[in-house]
Amino acid sequence: MCYCKSCHKIRGDKAVYKRGDPAKDYVLPLGWARFPLNVSVVKSSYHVVFHGTETDCLEDILNDGLLLPGDKTRSGYIIKEKWGHFNDYHKPPGFNTKQIFLSPSINYSGNPIYSYIHKWYDYKYATWYDAQVALQVWLRPGSYSVNHHTISATHKIDEHISNSELEWSTTDRSAVVPYGLLIHLG
Ligand SMILES: [Zn+2]
Repeated sequence: MCYCKSCHKIRGDKAVYKRGDPAKDYVLPLGWARFPLNVSVVKSSYHVVFHGTETDCLEDILNDGLLLPGDKTRSGYIIKEKWGHFNDYHKPPGFNTKQIFLSPSINYSGNPIYSYIHKWYDYKYATWYDAQVALQVWLRPGSYSVNHHTISATHKIDEHISNSELEWSTTDRSAVVPYGLLIHLG
């Protein structure tokens, strides 16, 4: 599914829909393309959110799902807080870094702090792109908390969502079900 401006316009889609039970706003990942992941059960009662990541982490996420800092992946890698992010030595008082962080906004999850920019060369058209990856995720209602964003931005990051509700987090691995791979070429 392509969410570029022209495909979005041709389909006549809105920017925001309701998903889950109780219903929550789902803001479409405009500007990105989504490839479906092979999931066994559709979680239609769950909320829809995003998780920005880097290509090096994709294979582990597709194999193991999203895990917590301290967990070990099947490939033997121990998850840790990313460089430059809050960790045990640098965080606001009471902030728990051992969580899975998600957002209802692709504008927030797609920030290069979370969704790293990879240089990608398209041989067919001899063009360099800034490529980014993220996951579209079902999140179980009641399993997570909603918080203010934690980046140094003062502007409104997403026109449809308040800055104070952009960062969602959970310690429950089973509450998080990735079901789409999002790719952005800039
Ligand atoms: Zn398109």
